[in-house]
Amino acid sequence: MRILVVEDNLPIARAVRSMLEAQKFAANIVTDGRTGLDHLLGQAYDAAIVDVGLPGMDGFAVARNARAEGVRTPILMLTARDAVEDRVAGLDCGADDYLVKPFVENELIARLRAILRRAERPLVTVIDVGRLHVDVGGRCARYDHKPLDLGATEFRLLELLARNAGIALSRAQVLERIWDYDFDGSSNIVDVYVSQLRRKLKKLGGEGVIETVWGVGYRLRN
Ligand code: CA
Repeated sequence: MRILVVEDNLPIARAVRSMLEAQKFAANIVTDGRTGLDHLLGQAYDAAIVDVGLPGMDGFAVARNARAEGVRTPILMLTARDAVEDRVAGLDCGADDYLVKPFVENELIARLRAILRRAERPLVTVIDVGRLHVDVGGRCARYDHKPLDLGATEFRLLELLARNAGIALSRAQVLERIWDYDFDGSSNIVDVYVSQLRRKLKKLGGEGVIETVWGVGYRLRN
């Protein structure tokens, strides 16, 4: 697996490269947006990790231009802490996911593996995680072969958790992807929907399928 790293801050770029190499990925660093785009257009990478703030062309433009040229390489965007609008903008312009700086190796590798998995199965419309079966195309789900009766929002939440099975999602990440905007920090709407989903899963014997990760958010057990 060959990963492109587009990051102008060399200490960060090198740290990312050693995290990748520790996991047997090959990494290539470029330090400006225009060169990053050239590499995405001209070379076969399995994924790209692209910083937002870059000289020449920012990370958003790199992603947007690459997508406009038909490049489907999965892109993980690096954003600054607290820049929620950056994360949303990144996803809007074609990035597959984002990672907030500073991050730890486990988080980088988990997110990278998740976008690589999704890229391997671009047409997958069915997600099976243990006894959970989510038919994305058919907009229905089953647990242990029994149908789950879900509202539209509950379904999207379950789909999001299932697509990221084994990865903890923060409330902010869930809010952005399910509701497309940011609630204020005191909002408990994610918790409300998670408890509804848990109740429905529990009725079918799926207790503990959605785990609480203290200090982070929620994770679908895989
Ligand atoms: Ca930068």
